[in-house]
Amino acid sequence: MSERNCIPGVELKPCPFCDGKAVLKAVRHVPNGYEYTPMCTVKSCAGRLAKKWLHKQDAIEAWNRRGTNAEH
Ligand SMILES: [Zn+2]
Repeated sequence: MSERNCIPGVELKPCPFCDGKAVLKAVRHVPNGYEYTPMCTVKSCAGRLAKKWLHKQDAIEAWNRRGTNAEH
């Protein structure tokens, strides 16, 4: 995953696995834009959520709530 997919200006809680920095990534191009998922930036961890969201805010809230099937 290249850095250009990283969405700037997003505040995410640290990774639930390693406490590392997490970022929001645009992971899939869809007709109306992109789907987003939060992801850990630590290479050896790569924690992420199993779900993708069309709205950035939904993805951010899910990560910050630790709610939706975080997985390695
Ligand atoms: Zn992590």
